[in-house]
Amino acid sequence: MMKFLLFGHPVAHSLSARMHAANFKALSMDATYEARDVEPEQLKDALAEAVREGVCGLNLTLPHKCAALALLDKVDESAVRYNAVNTVHIVGGKTFGYNTDVFGFLKDLEVHGVSVPLKRILVLGAGGAGRSIARACLDCGAGDVMVANRTVREGMIDLNSEECRLVAQLANIIINATSVGLKATDGSPLDVRALHAGQVVYDCCPVAHTTQLIAAARAAGAQAIDGKGMLVHQAAKAFEIWTGRKANIKAMTEAIA
Ligand code: NAP
Repeated sequence: MMKFLLFGHPVAHSLSARMHAANFKALSMDATYEARDVEPEQLKDALAEAVREGVCGLNLTLPHKCAALALLDKVDESAVRYNAVNTVHIVGGKTFGYNTDVFGFLKDLEVHGVSVPLKRILVLGAGGAGRSIARACLDCGAGDVMVANRTVREGMIDLNSEECRLVAQLANIIINATSVGLKATDGSPLDVRALHAGQVVYDCCPVAHTTQLIAAARAAGAQAIDGKGMLVHQAAKAFEIWTGRKANIKAMTEAIA
């Protein structure tokens, strides 16, 4: 039996186990995928334990993506470029790290017919996902990429400012990469009066409920895209790295619909 794990803290909200189980079933694979709550200080030991257990592959989510870079035997170009690892392949007792989140995000934009070149883009959030998405948009030829964050650092705008609302109004694509929206009770990370028809609003939160931002974007007539497609495509790419096989995207999508 092939064994796969997800390390995160917390992980209770994650849809990944459900999605991977559906893929294994669709492909008639004898495999398991288990989410484990691993605290930051436990990550090194948890990785070593996974190697000892004969685990084939791992996903890493909050808050481990950056810390893992220093703990793995080797990391590929994507993980270095985006300074984050979300996929680990274990081969011959060695750990190899990859970033499939950016692939998942760009693939989902493509699926929804959204093109990045020359667009004015506002990224909300400057954590691992926000920074890598902003960089990927620049790599893809975006006209302008602004980053707004709650904790303002150099080159960023204040998420809660009037300036942010004005920049949002002028943006062609707004991407929420904050963790606001993960809980069903969360409000919107952005003043929703900025949203209007003609915009694309992408909420990375991979959750079963409709976030306030997605609801407001729909009400404003914008193209609203939730984070489940990104989740499916990053997972499919991870599965391909672990097994060399193509995932069943339909089964994965239906499992978290
Ligand atoms: P992270 O590194 O912990 O960053 C969290 C970000 O959220 C930071 O910018 C933080 O701002 C901001 N934030 C947290 N609480 C906030 C609040 N109450 N108000 C305003 N801003 C707040 O996390 P991450 O890995 O970048 O992930 C961010 C989001 O992307 C999460 O929702 C995650 O689930 C999602 N994501 C989705 C996928 C997918 O496949 N769909 C993949 C990767 C990530 P400060 O800097 O001020 O703390």
